[in-house]
Amino acid sequence: VRHDDGPDPGGPAALVLAGRAWRGGRLEPVEIAVGEDGRIRSVGRVRDAGRRHDVGDRVILPAATDLHVHFRDPPGPTGVESIATGTVQAALGGVGLVGEMPNTSPEVSSVDALDAKEARVRGRAAVDVLLYASPGSPSALGALAARAGAFKLYLSPTTGIDRPVPPEELPGLLGRLAGLGLPVTVHAEDPSRFLDPRKAENPAAWNRARPPAAEEAAVERLLKAAPPALRVHVAHVTVPSLVTKLRSAGVSFEATPHHLLLEAKAKADARFKVNPPLRGPAERTGMWEAFRAGQIPCVASDHAPHALDRKQGPFDLAPSGVPGVETMLPLLLAEVRRGEVPLPVVLSSLCDRPARWLGQPMGRIAPGHRANLLVVDFRARSTVRADRLHAPAGWTPFEGREAIFPVEHWRDGERIVADGEFVGRPGGTVVRPDFAPQPP
Ligand SMILES: [Zn+2]
Repeated sequence: VRHDDGPDPGGPAALVLAGRAWRGGRLEPVEIAVGEDGRIRSVGRVRDAGRRHDVGDRVILPAATDLHVHFRDPPGPTGVESIATGTVQAALGGVGLVGEMPNTSPEVSSVDALDAKEARVRGRAAVDVLLYASPGSPSALGALAARAGAFKLYLSPTTGIDRPVPPEELPGLLGRLAGLGLPVTVHAEDPSRFLDPRKAENPAAWNRARPPAAEEAAVERLLKAAPPALRVHVAHVTVPSLVTKLRSAGVSFEATPHHLLLEAKAKADARFKVNPPLRGPAERTGMWEAFRAGQIPCVASDHAPHALDRKQGPFDLAPSGVPGVETMLPLLLAEVRRGEVPLPVVLSSLCDRPARWLGQPMGRIAPGHRANLLVVDFRARSTVRADRLHAPAGWTPFEGREAIFPVEHWRDGERIVADGEFVGRPGGTVVRPDFAPQPP
């Protein structure tokens, strides 16, 4: 049985990708016709095939969207990443669109800073980039919103953010943002609930210093202050009780692979220092159960690499953050292979929902969507090893874990990864949300 999405309009397609895809509740053979515009034209039987690329019984998936990365471009004196290197990792990890956060130096809180950042994407990005902005001065907010892809707010200090949004300013700011229509992502930790973090010397102590209660208090404050019209999304949720709370409030949120897969250990070093902290087994297991049950709308990497010597120095001086854009989808595809999570859950939380949240016509294999597609061989399991990854930082918190990397990655019907190697050109562009009705 084939599930044809309407008749193929006919005429030669620019490309026909043939393989298997998840359709109607199972993997079945498909032919995906791609038009000259790089959009999917039909899915099903193609009458008049042009250039045909047959991947046999390998699986064609939509490329993922990573809502949350820090490529820190320009890199500053301690930087180990850039838009060029970060987007190649994204491409190799099956991520076709990244949301780049604004806490660079200088912070992206003005139209000038946004222009400068856009100039750094053009001709350098392997995949598309959506640029977040920090709100900056209230009088310039409208001009900034006309250019930015989304906003990011910090309710607590973190890397590059010394002045979080003061509690008394939050309701007014959210009110102004609600009228602008852009998605708003919030880093929700309440610093008044932190213990003295300078005393923390390992990831388990870091978890006690920035406890789950700090996240719960910040989300409480956010839900009270957020007007109904605001498109608000909570970054890196680590506490199962918040999954229930945010779902019943109808608020979007994400979990990260590191909070889903790793736990805070007293014997680990500052490579595992991240904000919010890695949690204990109860929270980690609860988050994983919620994820596999399809209760977590989005997974995002919060890719935030730092040089190894800074991460292996004194814990209190080490910066927070782990790399992850290249391993996010591959780690979870390995979990699919092991039967730990259903494939449709991974497709929803890494491909479909994040793309929808940012107003992008991708993340589904359906007519009208961009032909941003992956080819995956579920038999080709490998082991994550930092020296086989492409992060200039040269380390990963997932060393030794099983992963399934995409064999191919297509951007708008053009192949950018073949046999697991980047073969594309830096043709990624800056995209902005379009919340007009998307193709079904
Ligand atoms: Zn972040």
